[in-house]
Amino acid sequence: MKEFDYVIIGGGCAGLSLAYELEINDKLRDKTLAIIEPRKEYKRDKTWSFWKVFDHKFEDCVIKSWNNFSINTSENSQELASEKFPYQSIDSGKFYEKINLKISKNSNINFFKNISEIHTDNSLIFNSVFDGELDKSKLWQHFQGIEIETPKNIFDEEILNLMDFNCDQKNDVHFFYTLPFSKNKALIETTWLSNLEDKTLKDYDLQLENYIKNNLGIKNYKINFLEKGAIPLFYPSFRNDNKTINIGSAGGMTRLSTGYTFLNIQEHSQYIVKNIDKIQKIKRYKLGKKYQFLDKVFLRVLEKHPEKMPKIFFNMFKSSSNTVIKFLSNKSNILEDINIISNMPKLIFIKALFY
Ligand SMILES: Cc1cc2nc3c(=O)[nH]c(=O)nc-3n(C[C@H](O)[C@H](O)[C@H](O)COP(=O)(O)OP(=O)(O)OC[C@H]3O[C@@H](n4cnc5c(N)ncnc54)[C@H](O)[C@@H]3O)c2cc1C
Repeated sequence: MKEFDYVIIGGGCAGLSLAYELEINDKLRDKTLAIIEPRKEYKRDKTWSFWKVFDHKFEDCVIKSWNNFSINTSENSQELASEKFPYQSIDSGKFYEKINLKISKNSNINFFKNISEIHTDNSLIFNSVFDGELDKSKLWQHFQGIEIETPKNIFDEEILNLMDFNCDQKNDVHFFYTLPFSKNKALIETTWLSNLEDKTLKDYDLQLENYIKNNLGIKNYKINFLEKGAIPLFYPSFRNDNKTINIGSAGGMTRLSTGYTFLNIQEHSQYIVKNIDKIQKIKRYKLGKKYQFLDKVFLRVLEKHPEKMPKIFFNMFKSSSNTVIKFLSNKSNILEDINIISNMPKLIFIKALFY
């Protein structure tokens, strides 16, 4: 069996981002890389969205950028501008195609379906696959989105709707999310923050159908694309040994209060490639401790008081949009953190420190 200098387990977002970063920085001229990926073919399976708080290498995979967004509850709505940090959506199909085209030109990179096909004793391993089944009774962000196309121009393509809480919450946290890619095409998602055990929350098709008909007033449309997912809002135990570096969601790159992961993966890949020659000796890359702590408190409040969350999310956006975006993208300074915290209901957050 063949041996490789580097092995990436999982050729998804994190695995391919790392392979791309290694390749474009010329780190695979004299080194070999095996990517373990069981999928039969690469096609669009996700839409990765985020606030562009720094430049990234996938501008050519962006479906659309917006400078305006809205958020609403059943009582209130607000529109906000985000000129400095546009919100962007990436087509995963284009992302996979771009990276696979680039790395296929290097014969030092090989794909395998199963890790048992290679020798890994002397390899440095980058792992993006969770170890075992994750606990369904914990908090997850689970969702289904459909990209719909309407015969008439219906959507205002200049403004996305980040969270619409004007829907049945069923004692959990539930909102819809609408990304208008053009005047007659939009991705609409139903999103829950809850455990994964309650089957009554998972009639996503019906939820979307009702929302599109009753809230958006659209009767006639076709579905171009469907995506479905569940992101753990907790950090599972990681595979921990000196020759394995965990990456992607399995490497703790998800912001627990939001599920945002894509840009964190890009920063992590850059960190690894910059330090590749000494990566086993230096500090492991982590999201800031400050965010881990604040997100933990935030999620405790969310679990204890789901009914208060629409208002809490709504009020968070009473700070300037740049401040909130920086906070949600792990780029805020202490004054900005204080500003966000000052918009939260004090008593329940203080109590949450001691649960
Ligand atoms: C539908 C969906 C939408 C999302 N939208 C956003 C978003 O808008 N913004 C954002 O920031 N984040 C988003 N996320 C969260 C996160 O960015 C993505 O999950 C992202 O794909 C995480 O990258 P990853 O490499 O950790 O995992 P993945 O991209 O899932 O890659 C893991 C890879 O491992 C492979 N694999 C599985 N089992 C094995 C095995 N035994 N051996 C080897 N390989 C294996 C899989 O086939 C897969 O290709 C979304 C997640 C989902 C599921």
